[in-house]
Amino acid sequence: MNLVFLGYPGSGKGTQAKMLAERKNFAHLSTGDLFREEIAKGTKLGQTVKDIISSGKLVSDNIVLEVIESKIGSLKNDVIFDGFPRTVEQAEGLENLLEKYSRKVDAVLFFEVEEREVVKRLSARRSCSCGRVYNVISNPPKKEGICDSCGAALFTREDDKPEVISKRIDVYKDLTSPLISYYRTQGLFHIINASRPGEEVYGEIEKTLSEEKI
Ligand code: AMP
Repeated sequence: MNLVFLGYPGSGKGTQAKMLAERKNFAHLSTGDLFREEIAKGTKLGQTVKDIISSGKLVSDNIVLEVIESKIGSLKNDVIFDGFPRTVEQAEGLENLLEKYSRKVDAVLFFEVEEREVVKRLSARRSCSCGRVYNVISNPPKKEGICDSCGAALFTREDDKPEVISKRIDVYKDLTSPLISYYRTQGLFHIINASRPGEEVYGEIEKTLSEEKI
């Protein structure tokens, strides 16, 4: 089963994808995480995308699709694509790539949340190099600035800084939101009310998947 998680940055896609991956044994493919790993390792790809990501723009479709192509063959059957596709071109590219393995997108879950809520969440987000993410208001670490899991210092992502947040929101509206009607017309589209607490959102995802027999 191939699921696409779609929505504003900060809509909770990543958190829910991690939960579903852990609890239901999905592979979790987040292009954002993947790029951040490449940046941390200092690879050529990391160097290419670093400034693009810090500025809140999108990495080019060619690069994104090359990265997905290099991973897709080795992924197990149940996959969550998180933060990909982000343009109609990427969605078409994904279909072509999946077709090569006789697979398809089975469902698109759209994480619906208001823009002002997203700004609040991104501004309050603190990240850890171990992958754990906190919200300093609704889900703070036990000790301020320190990760509960690994004890490392938390940081604010370059692209979670206020001026970049508004750029990312504009980019989402211009380039990513057309995917809503793209997938709606394909009958793959499911709306998830993502403005609620995480466990409630997770419950709705589970319900949607089972009701639709996905
Ligand atoms: P995310 O962690 O999903 O919010 O992604 C962080 C940043 O990585 C984005 O703002 C983009 O610069 C880049 N990125 C992640 N996924 C994609 C994608 N599918 N297409 C283009 N750029 C992406």
